[in-house]
Amino acid sequence: MGAARKLCLIMVDAMRADMLRAAVEQGKAPHFAALLERGSERECVSAFPSVTPVCCAEIATGVAADRHWISGMNWYHRVEQRYVEYGSSFEATRAFGLFRSTYDVVYNLNMGHLSPEVETVFESLADAGLRSACTPFLIFRGRTRHDLGLDGLLRAGALAAGFKHAAWGPEEFFYGELFSSRPVDCKATLARPGTRDEYSACAAAELAGEPDSYDFILLSLPDNDFHAHRFGPDAMVGSLAHADRCFGRFVEAAGGIDAFLERHAVILMADHAQTEVEREVSFGEELASRWEVLGPSWERPELAELAVSPTSRAANLYVLPQAPDRERLHAELRDELASHEACELVAWLERPDGAPCLREGAGSPVYEEPAARAVVRRADGELRFRHAGGGEGDEPTGYDLRGAGWRLDGDPAVLGLPAAGRELASAEYPDGLARLWSALTAPHAGDVVVSLAPGWECVDWGGTSHQGGGSHGSLRAEDSLVPLVLCGLEPEAEPRQWRLTDVAGLVRSHFGLAPDAAAAGERAGTGART
Ligand SMILES: [Zn+2]
Repeated sequence: MGAARKLCLIMVDAMRADMLRAAVEQGKAPHFAALLERGSERECVSAFPSVTPVCCAEIATGVAADRHWISGMNWYHRVEQRYVEYGSSFEATRAFGLFRSTYDVVYNLNMGHLSPEVETVFESLADAGLRSACTPFLIFRGRTRHDLGLDGLLRAGALAAGFKHAAWGPEEFFYGELFSSRPVDCKATLARPGTRDEYSACAAAELAGEPDSYDFILLSLPDNDFHAHRFGPDAMVGSLAHADRCFGRFVEAAGGIDAFLERHAVILMADHAQTEVEREVSFGEELASRWEVLGPSWERPELAELAVSPTSRAANLYVLPQAPDRERLHAELRDELASHEACELVAWLERPDGAPCLREGAGSPVYEEPAARAVVRRADGELRFRHAGGGEGDEPTGYDLRGAGWRLDGDPAVLGLPAAGRELASAEYPDGLARLWSALTAPHAGDVVVSLAPGWECVDWGGTSHQGGGSHGSLRAEDSLVPLVLCGLEPEAEPRQWRLTDVAGLVRSHFGLAPDAAAAGERAGTGART
Protein backbone atom coordinates (compact mmCIF):
# COMPACT_ATOMS: atom_id res chain seq x y z
CA MET A 1 0.00 0.00 0.00
CA GLY A 2 2.18 2.84 1.19
CA ALA A 3 0.14 6.02 0.85
CA ALA A 4 2.57 8.81 1.55
CA ARG A 5 0.43 10.85 3.87
CA LYS A 6 -2.27 10.36 6.41
CA LEU A 7 -5.69 11.75 5.64
CA CYS A 8 -7.79 13.85 8.01
CA LEU A 9 -11.47 14.39 7.16
CA ILE A 10 -13.00 17.23 9.18
CA MET A 11 -16.78 17.23 9.18
CA VAL A 12 -18.22 20.48 10.54
CA ASP A 13 -21.94 19.85 10.87
CA ALA A 14 -24.08 22.41 8.95
CA MET A 15 -21.13 24.66 7.97
CA ARG A 16 -22.20 27.06 5.24
CA ALA A 17 -19.66 28.25 2.66
CA ASP A 18 -20.52 31.92 3.20
CA MET A 19 -20.16 31.60 6.97
CA LEU A 20 -16.82 29.79 6.62
CA ARG A 21 -15.64 32.69 4.46
CA ALA A 22 -16.93 35.23 6.98
CA ALA A 23 -15.19 33.45 9.88
CA VAL A 24 -11.93 33.36 7.90
CA GLU A 25 -12.17 37.00 6.80
CA GLN A 26 -12.81 38.11 10.38
CA GLY A 27 -9.70 36.24 11.47
CA LYS A 28 -11.72 33.88 13.65
CA ALA A 29 -10.77 30.63 11.93
CA PRO A 30 -6.99 30.69 11.39
CA HIS A 31 -6.63 26.91 10.98
CA PHE A 32 -9.42 26.64 8.42
CA ALA A 33 -7.88 29.70 6.72
CA ALA A 34 -4.60 27.82 6.35
CA LEU A 35 -6.42 24.94 4.66
CA LEU A 36 -8.15 27.32 2.24
CA GLU A 37 -4.90 29.15 1.53
CA ARG A 38 -2.88 26.02 0.79
CA GLY A 39 -5.71 24.01 -0.72
CA SER A 40 -8.72 24.68 -2.89
CA GLU A 41 -12.44 24.99 -2.31
CA ARG A 42 -15.27 23.45 -4.26
CA GLU A 43 -19.04 23.53 -3.97
CA CYS A 44 -20.60 20.21 -3.05
CA VAL A 45 -24.24 19.05 -3.09
CA SER A 46 -25.70 17.37 -0.03
CA ALA A 47 -28.06 14.40 0.20
CA PHE A 48 -31.85 14.54 0.15
CA PRO A 49 -33.39 14.72 2.69
CA SER A 50 -30.45 16.94 3.67
CA VAL A 51 -30.29 15.72 7.27
CA THR A 52 -27.31 14.30 9.14
CA PRO A 53 -28.06 10.53 9.18
CA VAL A 54 -28.64 10.47 5.40
CA CYS A 55 -25.62 12.72 4.76
CA CYS A 56 -23.26 10.77 7.03
CA ALA A 57 -24.27 7.54 5.30
CA GLU A 58 -23.43 9.11 1.93
CA ILE A 59 -20.09 10.44 3.14
CA ALA A 60 -19.08 7.12 4.71
CA THR A 61 -20.21 4.80 1.91
CA GLY A 62 -20.10 6.81 -1.32
CA VAL A 63 -23.63 5.82 -2.35
CA ALA A 64 -27.04 7.47 -1.99
CA ALA A 65 -30.11 6.40 0.03
CA ASP A 66 -31.36 3.93 -2.60
CA ARG A 67 -28.23 1.90 -1.82
CA HIS A 68 -27.29 2.81 1.77
CA TRP A 69 -30.95 2.62 2.97
CA ILE A 70 -30.99 5.52 5.48
CA SER A 71 -33.99 7.70 4.61
CA GLY A 72 -34.18 10.40 7.26
CA MET A 73 -33.91 11.48 10.86
CA ASN A 74 -37.17 9.65 11.41
CA TRP A 75 -38.64 6.94 9.15
CA TYR A 76 -41.24 4.21 9.29
CA HIS A 77 -40.04 0.62 9.44
CA ARG A 78 -42.55 -1.30 7.30
CA VAL A 79 -41.45 -4.74 8.52
CA GLU A 80 -41.34 -3.89 12.24
CA GLN A 81 -44.39 -1.59 11.92
CA ARG A 82 -42.82 1.18 13.97
CA TYR A 83 -41.04 4.50 13.63
CA VAL A 84 -37.26 4.68 13.75
CA GLU A 85 -36.07 7.85 15.49
CA TYR A 86 -32.42 8.93 15.49
CA GLY A 87 -32.86 11.91 17.82
CA SER A 88 -34.58 14.84 16.09
CA SER A 89 -34.71 16.46 19.55
CA PHE A 90 -34.57 15.38 23.16
CA GLU A 91 -38.37 15.55 23.25
CA ALA A 92 -38.67 13.31 20.18
CA THR A 93 -36.21 10.85 21.70
CA ARG A 94 -38.34 10.76 24.83
CA ALA A 95 -41.57 10.29 22.86
CA PHE A 96 -40.21 7.02 21.46
CA GLY A 97 -38.37 6.06 24.63
CA LEU A 98 -34.80 6.97 25.47
CA PHE A 99 -33.66 3.37 25.27
CA ARG A 100 -35.29 2.64 21.93
CA SER A 101 -33.97 5.83 20.27
CA THR A 102 -30.47 5.35 21.65
CA TYR A 103 -30.50 1.74 20.50
CA ASP A 104 -31.65 2.85 17.05
CA VAL A 105 -28.99 5.52 16.66
CA VAL A 106 -26.06 3.60 18.15
CA TYR A 107 -26.62 -0.03 17.12
CA ASN A 108 -29.39 -0.29 14.56
CA LEU A 109 -28.31 2.63 12.38
CA ASN A 110 -24.92 0.97 11.79
CA MET A 111 -25.51 -2.75 12.33
CA GLY A 112 -29.13 -3.05 11.18
CA HIS A 113 -30.37 -0.19 9.02
CA LEU A 114 -27.26 0.68 7.00
CA SER A 115 -27.23 -1.72 4.06
CA PRO A 116 -24.90 -4.70 4.63
CA GLU A 117 -24.29 -4.70 0.88
CA VAL A 118 -22.31 -1.47 0.84
CA GLU A 119 -18.94 -0.77 2.40
CA THR A 120 -17.98 2.13 4.62
CA VAL A 121 -14.58 3.73 4.11
CA PHE A 122 -13.59 2.30 7.50
CA GLU A 123 -14.29 -1.20 6.17
CA SER A 124 -12.54 -0.58 2.83
CA LEU A 125 -9.41 0.74 4.55
CA ALA A 126 -9.35 -2.05 7.16
CA ASP A 127 -9.51 -4.66 4.39
CA ALA A 128 -6.46 -3.03 2.83
CA GLY A 129 -4.56 -3.20 6.11
CA LEU A 130 -4.94 0.50 6.94
CA ARG A 131 -5.97 1.92 10.29
CA SER A 132 -8.86 4.34 10.74
CA ALA A 133 -9.80 6.56 13.66
CA CYS A 134 -13.15 8.19 14.28
CA THR A 135 -14.60 10.62 16.80
CA PRO A 136 -18.40 10.54 17.30
CA PHE A 137 -19.96 10.29 13.83
CA LEU A 138 -23.31 8.69 13.12
CA ILE A 139 -21.92 6.15 10.65
CA PHE A 140 -18.93 4.30 12.05
CA ARG A 141 -19.31 0.67 10.92
CA GLY A 142 -15.89 -0.96 10.68
CA ARG A 143 -14.05 -4.24 11.13
CA THR A 144 -12.90 -3.92 14.74
CA ARG A 145 -14.98 -5.05 17.69
CA HIS A 146 -15.37 -2.61 20.58
CA ASP A 147 -16.92 -3.51 23.91
CA LEU A 148 -19.05 -1.01 25.75
CA GLY A 149 -16.78 1.51 27.48
CA LEU A 150 -15.76 1.25 31.09
CA ASP A 151 -16.42 4.77 32.32
CA GLY A 152 -19.16 7.29 32.34
CA LEU A 153 -22.45 7.88 34.01
CA LEU A 154 -24.35 6.59 31.01
CA ARG A 155 -22.90 3.14 31.57
CA ALA A 156 -24.87 2.32 34.70
CA GLY A 157 -28.13 3.36 33.07
CA ALA A 158 -27.23 1.63 29.85
CA LEU A 159 -26.47 -1.67 31.54
CA ALA A 160 -29.62 -1.46 33.65
CA ALA A 161 -31.59 -1.08 30.41
CA GLY A 162 -29.89 -4.14 28.91
CA PHE A 163 -27.85 -1.96 26.60
CA LYS A 164 -24.57 -3.81 26.48
CA HIS A 165 -23.69 -5.04 23.02
CA ALA A 166 -20.34 -4.53 21.40
CA ALA A 167 -20.13 -2.43 18.26
CA TRP A 168 -18.02 -2.87 15.13
CA GLY A 169 -16.12 0.29 14.29
CA PRO A 170 -12.82 1.65 13.05
CA GLU A 171 -9.59 0.59 14.75
CA GLU A 172 -9.49 3.73 16.90
CA PHE A 173 -13.04 4.54 17.95
CA PHE A 174 -14.17 7.27 20.32
CA TYR A 175 -17.89 7.49 20.97
CA GLY A 176 -18.31 9.47 24.16
CA GLU A 177 -19.40 7.54 27.22
CA LEU A 178 -20.17 4.39 25.24
CA PHE A 179 -17.08 3.29 23.34
CA SER A 180 -13.39 4.09 23.52
CA SER A 181 -10.72 2.01 21.81
CA ARG A 182 -8.17 3.21 24.36
CA PRO A 183 -8.37 5.13 27.61
CA VAL A 184 -8.22 8.86 26.87
CA ASP A 185 -8.30 11.73 29.31
CA CYS A 186 -11.26 13.41 27.62
CA LYS A 187 -14.56 14.41 29.14
CA ALA A 188 -17.29 12.62 27.23
CA THR A 189 -20.39 14.72 26.71
CA LEU A 190 -22.35 12.73 24.16
CA ALA A 191 -25.57 13.29 26.04
CA ARG A 192 -25.19 17.09 25.95
CA PRO A 193 -25.46 18.54 22.45
CA GLY A 194 -23.53 21.75 21.89
CA THR A 195 -20.56 20.55 23.97
CA ARG A 196 -19.19 17.78 21.79
CA ASP A 197 -16.50 19.45 19.67
CA GLU A 198 -14.12 19.51 22.62
CA TYR A 199 -14.41 15.78 23.12
CA SER A 200 -13.58 15.12 19.44
CA ALA A 201 -10.62 17.48 19.63
CA CYS A 202 -9.35 15.90 22.83
CA ALA A 203 -9.53 12.34 21.46
CA ALA A 204 -7.81 13.38 18.22
CA ALA A 205 -5.10 15.24 20.14
CA GLU A 206 -4.38 12.11 22.17
CA LEU A 207 -3.84 10.16 18.93
CA ALA A 208 -1.55 12.87 17.55
CA GLY A 209 1.04 11.78 20.08
CA GLU A 210 0.99 8.32 18.57
CA PRO A 211 1.13 8.84 14.82
CA ASP A 212 1.22 5.11 14.04
CA SER A 213 -2.22 4.70 15.52
CA TYR A 214 -4.05 5.78 12.35
CA ASP A 215 -3.75 6.35 8.61
CA PHE A 216 -7.18 7.97 8.24
CA ILE A 217 -8.93 10.04 10.86
CA LEU A 218 -12.48 11.39 10.74
CA LEU A 219 -12.69 14.40 13.05
CA SER A 220 -16.34 15.27 13.66
CA LEU A 221 -17.26 18.73 14.93
CA PRO A 222 -21.04 18.61 15.45
CA ASP A 223 -21.70 21.65 17.66
CA ASN A 224 -22.11 24.17 14.84
CA ASP A 225 -25.38 22.48 13.79
CA PHE A 226 -26.77 22.68 17.32
CA HIS A 227 -25.92 26.38 17.63
CA ALA A 228 -27.32 27.28 14.23
CA HIS A 229 -30.56 25.41 14.95
CA ARG A 230 -30.93 27.48 18.06
CA PHE A 231 -29.63 30.91 17.12
CA GLY A 232 -30.11 30.81 13.35
CA PRO A 233 -27.58 30.27 10.56
CA ASP A 234 -26.40 33.89 10.70
CA ALA A 235 -24.93 33.22 14.14
CA MET A 236 -22.63 30.58 12.69
CA VAL A 237 -19.39 32.58 12.76
CA GLY A 238 -19.03 32.07 16.52
CA SER A 239 -19.58 28.32 16.41
CA LEU A 240 -17.23 27.99 13.41
CA ALA A 241 -14.59 29.87 15.38
CA HIS A 242 -15.10 27.32 18.13
CA ALA A 243 -14.82 24.43 15.66
CA ASP A 244 -11.60 25.97 14.33
CA ARG A 245 -10.16 26.17 17.85
CA CYS A 246 -10.99 22.51 18.39
CA PHE A 247 -9.32 21.47 15.12
CA GLY A 248 -6.42 23.70 16.23
CA ARG A 249 -6.01 21.64 19.36
CA PHE A 250 -5.37 18.54 17.21
CA VAL A 251 -3.01 20.55 14.97
CA GLU A 252 -1.00 21.85 17.94
CA ALA A 253 -0.72 18.35 19.40
CA ALA A 254 0.74 17.29 16.04
CA GLY A 255 3.41 20.04 16.17
CA GLY A 256 1.67 23.02 14.54
CA ILE A 257 0.12 23.63 11.14
CA ASP A 258 3.26 23.12 9.04
CA ALA A 259 4.16 19.81 10.64
CA PHE A 260 0.51 18.77 10.55
CA LEU A 261 0.09 19.46 6.83
CA GLU A 262 3.40 17.79 6.10
CA ARG A 263 1.99 14.58 7.49
CA HIS A 264 -1.71 14.94 6.60
CA ALA A 265 -3.79 15.61 3.55
CA VAL A 266 -7.03 17.25 4.70
CA ILE A 267 -10.67 17.34 3.59
CA LEU A 268 -12.74 20.04 5.31
CA MET A 269 -16.45 19.82 4.64
CA ALA A 270 -20.02 19.88 5.93
CA ASP A 271 -22.89 17.43 5.63
CA HIS A 272 -25.59 20.00 4.82
CA ALA A 273 -26.18 23.74 5.27
CA GLN A 274 -28.89 25.58 7.23
CA THR A 275 -31.50 28.22 6.55
CA GLU A 276 -33.85 30.32 8.73
CA VAL A 277 -37.03 28.82 10.15
CA GLU A 278 -40.01 31.13 10.62
CA ARG A 279 -42.95 28.77 10.61
CA GLU A 280 -43.69 25.22 11.72
CA VAL A 281 -46.04 22.55 10.48
CA SER A 282 -47.19 19.42 12.31
CA PHE A 283 -48.19 16.93 9.63
CA GLY A 284 -48.86 14.32 12.31
CA GLU A 285 -51.50 16.49 13.91
CA GLU A 286 -52.99 18.03 10.78
CA LEU A 287 -53.38 14.78 8.85
CA ALA A 288 -54.86 13.09 11.93
CA SER A 289 -57.99 15.21 11.49
CA ARG A 290 -58.71 13.26 8.32
CA TRP A 291 -56.94 9.89 8.67
CA GLU A 292 -55.78 7.47 11.36
CA VAL A 293 -52.15 8.53 11.80
CA LEU A 294 -49.79 6.19 13.66
CA GLY A 295 -48.60 7.80 16.90
CA PRO A 296 -45.11 7.28 18.44
CA SER A 297 -46.17 4.68 20.98
CA TRP A 298 -49.27 3.10 19.55
CA GLU A 299 -49.85 -0.40 20.84
CA ARG A 300 -51.89 -1.36 17.78
CA PRO A 301 -50.20 -0.12 14.60
CA GLU A 302 -52.57 -2.27 12.52
CA LEU A 303 -55.31 0.30 13.15
CA ALA A 304 -53.39 3.13 11.49
CA GLU A 305 -53.82 4.23 7.86
CA LEU A 306 -50.87 6.60 7.62
CA ALA A 307 -47.40 6.88 9.11
CA VAL A 308 -45.82 10.35 9.15
CA SER A 309 -42.08 10.84 9.45
CA PRO A 310 -41.06 14.48 9.86
CA THR A 311 -37.39 14.95 9.02
CA SER A 312 -36.66 18.67 9.57
CA ARG A 313 -37.49 20.50 6.30
CA ALA A 314 -38.67 17.33 4.54
CA ALA A 315 -41.01 14.48 5.38
CA ASN A 316 -41.75 10.89 4.39
CA LEU A 317 -45.42 9.83 4.42
CA TYR A 318 -46.47 6.20 4.31
CA VAL A 319 -49.82 4.86 3.13
CA LEU A 320 -49.96 1.74 5.27
CA PRO A 321 -50.78 -1.65 3.69
CA GLN A 322 -53.84 -2.17 5.91
CA ALA A 323 -55.45 1.13 4.85
CA PRO A 324 -58.60 0.62 2.76
CA ASP A 325 -58.46 1.81 -0.85
CA ARG A 326 -54.81 2.80 -0.75
CA GLU A 327 -54.69 4.26 -4.24
CA ARG A 328 -57.47 6.70 -3.47
CA LEU A 329 -55.92 7.56 -0.12
CA HIS A 330 -52.60 8.21 -1.87
CA ALA A 331 -54.29 10.55 -4.36
CA GLU A 332 -56.14 12.42 -1.60
CA LEU A 333 -52.99 12.66 0.50
CA ARG A 334 -50.85 14.16 -2.24
CA ASP A 335 -53.62 16.63 -3.12
CA GLU A 336 -53.90 17.65 0.51
CA LEU A 337 -50.14 18.10 0.82
CA ALA A 338 -49.79 19.94 -2.49
CA SER A 339 -52.37 22.49 -1.35
CA HIS A 340 -50.53 23.08 1.96
CA GLU A 341 -48.42 26.25 1.94
CA ALA A 342 -45.61 24.48 3.83
CA CYS A 343 -45.06 21.97 1.02
CA GLU A 344 -43.07 23.21 -1.91
CA LEU A 345 -42.51 19.87 -3.64
CA VAL A 346 -44.66 16.77 -3.33
CA ALA A 347 -43.16 13.69 -4.98
CA TRP A 348 -43.98 10.02 -5.49
CA LEU A 349 -43.32 7.12 -7.85
CA GLU A 350 -45.86 5.88 -10.34
CA ARG A 351 -46.17 2.58 -12.17
CA PRO A 352 -46.33 2.23 -15.95
CA ASP A 353 -50.14 2.34 -15.76
CA GLY A 354 -50.08 5.66 -13.89
CA ALA A 355 -51.11 4.23 -10.50
CA PRO A 356 -48.89 5.17 -7.54
CA CYS A 357 -46.24 2.65 -6.42
CA LEU A 358 -47.35 1.46 -3.00
CA ARG A 359 -44.94 -0.64 -0.96
CA GLU A 360 -46.04 -3.68 0.97
CA GLY A 361 -45.11 -4.22 4.58
CA ALA A 362 -43.42 -7.60 4.55
CA GLY A 363 -40.45 -9.11 2.82
CA SER A 364 -37.15 -7.66 1.76
CA PRO A 365 -36.74 -3.93 2.24
CA VAL A 366 -35.08 -3.71 -1.16
CA TYR A 367 -37.24 -1.81 -3.57
CA GLU A 368 -38.14 -4.08 -6.46
CA GLU A 369 -41.36 -2.87 -8.02
CA PRO A 370 -40.65 -1.48 -11.48
CA ALA A 371 -41.28 2.22 -11.19
CA ALA A 372 -42.13 3.86 -14.47
CA ARG A 373 -41.15 7.29 -13.29
CA ALA A 374 -41.08 9.82 -10.53
CA VAL A 375 -43.69 12.55 -10.30
CA VAL A 376 -42.99 15.87 -8.62
CA ARG A 377 -45.66 18.50 -8.12
CA ARG A 378 -45.27 22.16 -7.28
CA ALA A 379 -47.96 24.84 -7.15
CA ASP A 380 -47.28 25.80 -10.74
CA GLY A 381 -47.16 22.39 -12.35
CA GLU A 382 -46.05 18.80 -12.50
CA LEU A 383 -42.97 17.06 -13.85
CA ARG A 384 -42.45 13.36 -14.52
CA PHE A 385 -38.95 11.97 -14.93
CA ARG A 386 -36.96 8.78 -15.12
CA HIS A 387 -33.50 7.53 -16.00
CA ALA A 388 -33.00 7.12 -19.73
CA GLY A 389 -30.43 4.66 -21.01
CA GLY A 390 -30.36 5.98 -24.56
CA GLY A 391 -31.79 2.90 -26.34
CA GLU A 392 -34.62 3.05 -28.83
CA GLY A 393 -37.66 4.72 -27.26
CA ASP A 394 -35.46 5.52 -24.28
CA GLU A 395 -33.71 8.64 -25.56
CA PRO A 396 -32.85 11.15 -22.84
CA THR A 397 -34.38 14.60 -22.91
CA GLY A 398 -31.11 15.83 -21.50
CA TYR A 399 -28.20 15.12 -19.18
CA ASP A 400 -27.49 16.27 -15.64
CA LEU A 401 -24.13 17.77 -14.67
CA ARG A 402 -22.79 14.28 -13.87
CA GLY A 403 -23.63 13.03 -17.37
CA ALA A 404 -26.65 10.89 -16.45
CA GLY A 405 -29.43 10.87 -19.03
CA TRP A 406 -33.01 11.67 -17.96
CA ARG A 407 -36.29 11.59 -19.76
CA LEU A 408 -38.62 14.41 -18.72
CA ASP A 409 -42.31 14.82 -19.30
CA GLY A 410 -44.19 17.90 -18.13
CA ASP A 411 -42.94 21.22 -16.83
CA PRO A 412 -39.15 21.26 -16.15
CA ALA A 413 -39.52 24.58 -14.28
CA VAL A 414 -41.00 22.60 -11.36
CA LEU A 415 -37.44 21.54 -10.52
CA GLY A 416 -35.88 24.78 -11.73
CA LEU A 417 -34.70 23.13 -14.95
CA PRO A 418 -34.46 24.96 -18.27
CA ALA A 419 -37.41 24.62 -20.66
CA ALA A 420 -35.11 23.91 -23.58
CA GLY A 421 -31.61 22.59 -24.06
CA ARG A 422 -29.89 19.34 -23.25
CA GLU A 423 -28.21 20.38 -19.99
CA LEU A 424 -30.37 19.63 -16.98
CA ALA A 425 -28.91 21.94 -14.33
CA SER A 426 -30.89 23.67 -11.60
CA ALA A 427 -29.68 26.48 -9.36
CA GLU A 428 -32.78 26.19 -7.18
CA TYR A 429 -32.60 22.42 -6.57
CA PRO A 430 -29.01 21.36 -7.26
CA ASP A 431 -28.72 17.79 -8.55
CA GLY A 432 -32.48 17.64 -7.99
CA LEU A 433 -33.30 14.80 -10.39
CA ALA A 434 -30.77 12.33 -9.02
CA ARG A 435 -31.34 13.27 -5.38
CA LEU A 436 -35.10 13.00 -5.61
CA TRP A 437 -34.83 9.72 -7.51
CA SER A 438 -32.58 8.12 -4.87
CA ALA A 439 -34.81 9.40 -2.04
CA LEU A 440 -37.97 8.00 -3.68
CA THR A 441 -36.54 4.62 -4.65
CA ALA A 442 -34.84 4.02 -1.28
CA PRO A 443 -36.31 0.98 0.50
CA HIS A 444 -37.55 2.97 3.51
CA ALA A 445 -38.80 5.98 1.53
CA GLY A 446 -42.31 7.22 2.14
CA ASP A 447 -44.98 6.55 -0.48
CA VAL A 448 -45.09 10.34 -0.70
CA VAL A 449 -42.04 12.54 -0.03
CA VAL A 450 -42.25 16.29 0.55
CA SER A 451 -39.65 19.06 0.51
CA LEU A 452 -40.72 22.16 2.42
CA ALA A 453 -40.96 25.77 1.23
CA PRO A 454 -38.42 28.36 2.47
CA GLY A 455 -38.92 29.29 6.12
CA TRP A 456 -40.85 26.13 7.09
CA GLU A 457 -39.89 23.21 9.29
CA CYS A 458 -41.76 20.10 10.43
CA VAL A 459 -42.63 19.71 14.09
CA ASP A 460 -41.01 16.43 15.21
CA TRP A 461 -42.79 13.68 17.16
CA GLY A 462 -41.66 15.31 20.40
CA GLY A 463 -43.68 18.41 19.46
CA THR A 464 -40.70 20.70 18.86
CA SER A 465 -39.27 22.63 15.93
CA HIS A 466 -36.54 25.25 15.46
CA GLN A 467 -38.92 28.12 14.76
CA GLY A 468 -36.98 31.35 15.25
CA GLY A 469 -33.70 29.51 14.59
CA GLY A 470 -32.42 27.50 11.66
CA SER A 471 -32.84 24.12 10.00
CA HIS A 472 -32.24 22.06 6.85
CA GLY A 473 -33.55 19.00 5.07
CA SER A 474 -35.13 20.28 1.85
CA LEU A 475 -34.03 19.82 -1.74
CA ARG A 476 -33.39 23.56 -2.06
CA ALA A 477 -29.92 25.01 -2.65
CA GLU A 478 -29.84 26.92 0.64
CA ASP A 479 -30.14 23.69 2.63
CA SER A 480 -28.00 21.66 0.28
CA LEU A 481 -24.84 23.44 -0.87
CA VAL A 482 -21.76 22.92 1.30
CA PRO A 483 -18.07 23.75 1.02
CA LEU A 484 -15.60 20.99 0.16
CA VAL A 485 -12.02 22.07 0.85
CA LEU A 486 -9.22 19.81 -0.34
CA CYS A 487 -5.71 20.41 0.95
CA GLY A 488 -2.82 18.20 -0.15
CA LEU A 489 -5.22 16.04 -2.10
CA GLU A 490 -5.50 15.99 -5.88
CA PRO A 491 -8.74 14.46 -7.14
CA GLU A 492 -8.37 12.10 -10.10
CA ALA A 493 -11.29 13.75 -11.86
CA GLU A 494 -13.00 17.11 -11.53
CA PRO A 495 -16.76 16.59 -11.90
CA ARG A 496 -18.84 19.60 -12.91
CA GLN A 497 -20.84 19.15 -9.74
CA TRP A 498 -19.47 17.54 -6.60
CA ARG A 499 -21.68 15.36 -4.45
CA LEU A 500 -21.34 14.06 -0.90
CA THR A 501 -21.10 10.60 -2.41
CA ASP A 502 -17.76 11.60 -3.99
CA VAL A 503 -16.05 11.93 -0.62
CA ALA A 504 -15.69 8.20 0.10
CA GLY A 505 -14.03 7.87 -3.31
CA LEU A 506 -11.59 10.67 -2.46
CA VAL A 507 -10.67 8.82 0.75
CA ARG A 508 -10.25 5.44 -0.93
CA SER A 509 -8.27 6.90 -3.86
CA HIS A 510 -5.92 8.71 -1.51
CA PHE A 511 -4.85 5.29 -0.23
CA GLY A 512 -4.63 3.75 -3.70
CA LEU A 513 -7.94 1.86 -3.51
CA ALA A 514 -10.69 1.81 -6.11
CA PRO A 515 -12.99 4.78 -5.38
CA ASP A 516 -16.17 2.77 -5.74
CA ALA A 517 -17.21 0.66 -2.73
CA ALA A 518 -18.31 -2.34 -4.78
CA ALA A 519 -15.05 -2.34 -6.70
CA ALA A 520 -13.08 -1.92 -3.48
CA GLY A 521 -14.99 -4.88 -2.03
CA GLU A 522 -14.21 -7.07 -5.02
CA ARG A 523 -10.56 -6.25 -4.79
CA ALA A 524 -10.50 -7.13 -1.15
CA GLY A 525 -12.50 -10.30 -1.86
CA THR A 526 -15.33 -9.48 0.53
CA GLY A 527 -17.98 -10.53 -1.95
CA ALA A 528 -19.61 -7.18 -2.52
CA ARG A 529 -22.60 -7.25 -4.84
CA THR A 530 -21.72 -6.78 -8.48
ZN1 LIG B 1 -29.29 19.69 12.14
